[in-house]
Amino acid sequence: MSLMVRVVLELRCVKCAVKFERSFEERRRQLNYSEGEMLQLDEKACPNHCGGDWFSIEKQHPIRKFKRRFGPDA
Ligand SMILES: [Zn+2]
Repeated sequence: MSLMVRVVLELRCVKCAVKFERSFEERRRQLNYSEGEMLQLDEKACPNHCGGDWFSIEKQHPIRKFKRRFGPDA
């Protein structure tokens, strides 16, 4: 079993400049997001549906453990 880390990234769409948050789960060793860098996602990732697939990382918030349930799907 590998240790997974959840991280919440504050992203800004390069194409339309909308800001949004998105959470990712990664193996700890692959966790290499850093603020100010660019991240490529699929073209449906922008909540504004602008078709852009590049996003800049404004901030990141690592979440170390899952101690709480955030909803029925958690
Ligand atoms: Zn966009």
